Amino acid sequence: ELETRVDIGSRDEIGALAGAINDLAVDLQRYRDTRQEFFANISHELRTPITYLEGYANVVKERLYATEEEKDRYLDIIYMEARRIQHLVDDLFELAKMEEGKITLSPEWINLAELVEQAVEKVRLKAEDKNLELYCTVEGTPHRMYTDGARMEQIVLNLLENAIRYTERGTVGVLLSFQSASVKLAVQDTGIGIPEAELPFIFERFYRVEKSRSRMHGGTGLGLSIVHKLAGLLGGKITVASRPGEGTCFELYFDLRRKPGEDRV
Ligand code: ADP
Repeated sequence: ELETRVDIGSRDEIGALAGAINDLAVDLQRYRDTRQEFFANISHELRTPITYLEGYANVVKERLYATEEEKDRYLDIIYMEARRIQHLVDDLFELAKMEEGKITLSPEWINLAELVEQAVEKVRLKAEDKNLELYCTVEGTPHRMYTDGARMEQIVLNLLENAIRYTERGTVGVLLSFQSASVKLAVQDTGIGIPEAELPFIFERFYRVEKSRSRMHGGTGLGLSIVHKLAGLLGGKITVASRPGEGTCFELYFDLRRKPGEDRV
């Protein structure tokens, strides 16, 4: 499988060099495999909605429907699938920019409590549609934070939208706790949860706990990897705790003595 392989014949510098070359070969192969898998994933993710688009466009074009309502339903599907492709392309572009280190942060002094409250308001309609109770709790004394507000909002919105997407009853909300030199932001829900065995993988690109369920909910499988990368860019740490059938909590931790972008991800 490995194309490059050097025999380690001696214990001297040449042997060490041979060992290093072999390690490099393994790394390279791993990189190729991930790339290969990445493109396979993209093709798959695009192929599915495109198949729907073709199929339903044909049904409408050939007038293979019985009623006007049926036709409208097909047009709705076409619209939704087109949006899904749009969403996927946006997410991919975002990830590509981050991976190339091409994201420039615009840090400023922000009021995090206010930002989170506004993000919660933005998802209120979505939560009400599903009869979920929505909350935003602030503990400690709120203080300002020097960070990229737009990116921070993107993180919070993404986590909140997931929380709503994967919760059928109960509550969804944010608990923000300020300490003197740090802040913790927890996005909690009482939803379907994530099995423990899957937790280590959910920040990976295209990873989904259950493919069909996520597709039904309109996800791309890229949201959490974007959140993970953004959190890193802002100098934060993200962790997740979950119990199937009980709920999930994503926790972001920011040490306020560090500046965003100080270390790369
Ligand atoms: P998607 O676009 O499919 O939602 P994400 O990257 O945002 O992709 O999430 C990856 C997977 O993690 C999802 O498919 C879903 O199964 C799981 N997940 C994310 N957030 C939650 C949550 N709050 N509750 C339960 N499962 C979740």
